[in-house]
Amino acid sequence: MDSKKIDKVVSLCKRRGFIFQSSDIYGGLANTWDYGPYGVELKNNLKRAWWQANVYARDDIYGMDAAILMHPKAWEASGHIDNFFDLKSDCKSCKKRLKSEDLKNKSKCPECGGELTEARPFNLMFKTHQGPVEDTANLLYLRPETAQGMFVNFANILDSRHPKLPFGIAQIGKSFRNEITPGNFIFRTREFEQMEIEYFVNPNGADKKLEEWIENRFNWYIALGLNKANLRKRPHGKEELAHYALACTDIEYNFPFGWSELEGIANRSDFDLKRHAEYSGKDLRYFDDTAKERFFPYIIEPSGGVDRSLLAFLTDAYHEEDVRGKIRVVLKLSRELAPVKTAVLPLLKNRPEIIELARRITQGLKKHIVCIYDDTAAIGKLYRRQDEVGTLYCVTVDVESLEDKQVTVRERDTMEQKRIGIDRLKEYLLEKLNN
Ligand code: ATP
Repeated sequence: MDSKKIDKVVSLCKRRGFIFQSSDIYGGLANTWDYGPYGVELKNNLKRAWWQANVYARDDIYGMDAAILMHPKAWEASGHIDNFFDLKSDCKSCKKRLKSEDLKNKSKCPECGGELTEARPFNLMFKTHQGPVEDTANLLYLRPETAQGMFVNFANILDSRHPKLPFGIAQIGKSFRNEITPGNFIFRTREFEQMEIEYFVNPNGADKKLEEWIENRFNWYIALGLNKANLRKRPHGKEELAHYALACTDIEYNFPFGWSELEGIANRSDFDLKRHAEYSGKDLRYFDDTAKERFFPYIIEPSGGVDRSLLAFLTDAYHEEDVRGKIRVVLKLSRELAPVKTAVLPLLKNRPEIIELARRITQGLKKHIVCIYDDTAAIGKLYRRQDEVGTLYCVTVDVESLEDKQVTVRERDTMEQKRIGIDRLKEYLLEKLNN
């Protein structure tokens, strides 16, 4: 993939209001990003598509939204206090902090050739304090994954919804990791959002369920618009597995900076429920009333990143096309993901009747479709802007519209233009958007 593509995507994100550097006016906070008007729409569409596929479309998955702050014992039980470390070395000359994994046994700093300190463990959890006194008794952590919020609610879901195995819990929310080497735009940050499912299964059928989930999640990315050629599945070798996992496969995307993880799908065995049962003193076993036995289910966990997926969808959708000798930049996002479905653009902004008609059409459409109005430039420029944010249909209102009560509808990908009666416009667009 074109390695310059990432710079082009970053520049488009800023230029068009998708993603901005956080605290920009203060010089920016490194590796921290804010989602602007189109970015938040794209992110919401992505999360909605995930929720639709994994909660609404199924009978066996329950949504929830746990707090970011949890009882500190939960992190002892999960193993994060003992095991959530990266090894890091510091360069004695340029002071750069480097992850041992990235150094690949190099003994000198790859940046300046300086001497490196010995590798030391570095816990990735952000610490904070509850209440006014900052002592160890009040120490809390910002969650480094949303998963634990679902494990500790396992019994609540059983008691309130009475599901039978297999069933799952799904959640989307913020997580925090004090990463040693954040970077590649929104790919690796210290504050990010995850979309995770904890799917509880009978240990006997766990391997099969893992395979099903890998297929299911792989196909979700393709259905939502990612080019299949840019996706692959990478099973983990035994040495690579996390301490709780029996097996894991990553879904990777061919980013401009190389193949990298989008989502991991793991068989977490009965580790989590057993540990929380042990640390909380509560019985977290499932009762199978056919077999009349109690046991800890295994957990299959598809765990993906919202921001990482968003970056994959953005880079995949970014196209430059030669249109009559000029480069057209167009974001070919799918119908579900495109932040704006329709834009209404008046052709002559010095004609008040045209503006009034265009505004009226916008208001009518807004009740049914995500629609914006823009009259701040000439039509060529307005089209360019809409192409760059991936708007699916542009509706232009011109002098003739006043007479023949028709508008021109332009389709993003083909750039085909059609005259459509104003009275049919809503139906025409809804049909195009929903079929
Ligand atoms: P990596 O090896 O890339 O750090 P990981 O294997 O530690 O990721 P998991 O713990 O499996 O990641 O988290 C599940 C998902 O959460 C990842 O696939 C990724 O999409 C997302 N994620 C994890 N860490 C970050 C981060 N620092 N920034 C953005 N997204 C992240």
